[in-house]
Amino acid sequence: MYSKNNLDAFIKAAPILKDIMKTNQVSWLNPELTSVKNAPKFSIDLEDMKKAAHLWTRFAPFFVKAFPETKDNHGILESPLREIPKMKSLLNADNGDIEGRLFLKCDNELPICGSIKARGGFFEIMTYAEKLVLESGLLKKEDNYRIFTSPKFQEFFRKYKIGVASTGNLGLSIGMISAKLGFEVTVYMSADAKQWKKDLLREKGAIVMEFDGDFSEAISVGRELTRKDPNAYFVDDEDSHDLFLGYTVGALRIAEQLKSENIKVDADHPLFVYSPCGVGGSPGGTAFGLKQIYGDHVHCFFVEPTHCPAVLTGLVTGEMSHISVHDIGLDNITEADGLAVGRPSHFATKISKHLVSGIFTIEDDQLFKLLAQLKDSENIFLEPSATAGLIGPQRIQKTEYATTHHLNLKNATHIAWATGGLLVPEHQRKKFYERGSKHLLKV
Ligand SMILES: *Cc1c(COP(=O)(O)O)cnc(C)c1O
Repeated sequence: MYSKNNLDAFIKAAPILKDIMKTNQVSWLNPELTSVKNAPKFSIDLEDMKKAAHLWTRFAPFFVKAFPETKDNHGILESPLREIPKMKSLLNADNGDIEGRLFLKCDNELPICGSIKARGGFFEIMTYAEKLVLESGLLKKEDNYRIFTSPKFQEFFRKYKIGVASTGNLGLSIGMISAKLGFEVTVYMSADAKQWKKDLLREKGAIVMEFDGDFSEAISVGRELTRKDPNAYFVDDEDSHDLFLGYTVGALRIAEQLKSENIKVDADHPLFVYSPCGVGGSPGGTAFGLKQIYGDHVHCFFVEPTHCPAVLTGLVTGEMSHISVHDIGLDNITEADGLAVGRPSHFATKISKHLVSGIFTIEDDQLFKLLAQLKDSENIFLEPSATAGLIGPQRIQKTEYATTHHLNLKNATHIAWATGGLLVPEHQRKKFYERGSKHLLKV
């Protein structure tokens, strides 16, 4: 725990912490933002990203066979990048002055689990599964990976267990792919996880363990129970190299999409990417990937709920993953269950420290309002967490960021990363929308 003395020192060093502690919405610009060429060397690089993309390609025949909904895209899981001009107009009419073009990266449409967790979660399980069968001699990398659906492979994987702790979406992604491959998979879920997510996981063959506490407790217990078993593997959202690497592949794909739309990214054409942030793995991974491709011409911002700014608290205090939002008196309660995280990822935060341009915090009411606005303007439904990035373009206008970095916002491309929503059941969608539209009337 952090003593009062400690906190006073933190506040003195970074006065913004006072606002963070009051759950005020803040826009923080990172004083440690470093040019890509001067950033410390990390344990992964562009070559690793390309290798990671190859692993996805090897598994494509497995996906086609195991998940027929991936057939149209030949077993490659990817989501569209859509321009959302009507949403831009609506935001501008409401309270903004957004210049440049506004796009949505629609990971809410990613097949199978309908969230960005497919990128990191599937990748980590595929990496583990491939390693097991390569080592056992059952597989060669040249083989057709459709063989992963064979009874022989299913039987082989039944000897191994997977554990993961989750507020929802990571559990869904790990649960779904692991069960399909034949693993025995246990998902340790925090109290705030939605009932329909638990039901769906059980239906897909995963074991769901429920906890009264928050995500940090679920992860400690899950980690401990899983690691006791030599044939079990724990997907550790607070410190995972493979999850992170899986997310970076999203950057390679977005670069292809921007190219095919003839969108330039250079000194005169800045790219802004706004990502909803929980532990910081998915936004950190995609930011890292984009920086490898576009260098300093891409500007990556994270968005966290005012009640659980885990990465912001870690970076502002310099305590990184050693501090949780509870330590500064916050309750870590939000409707944005994908972001209901008190402590940042150890692995990801080290990297984001130098590469994230800034972090914005957002109130839950605003998330729901954006949800309703996006539905009204573009007929796109997102889950509340996934809307957070849409606040980015307006916020950036209100900071000195563009001036300091000599950026011409008229030529900007803004991408809000829509991180999930596909699997949300209809009755829940309606409730979310109603909460958001009520808020619209008041404004
Ligand atoms: C998990 C999640 C995020 C954030 O990803 P982290 O790796 O936890 O930062 C954002 N949006 C949704 C919908 C998520 O499920």
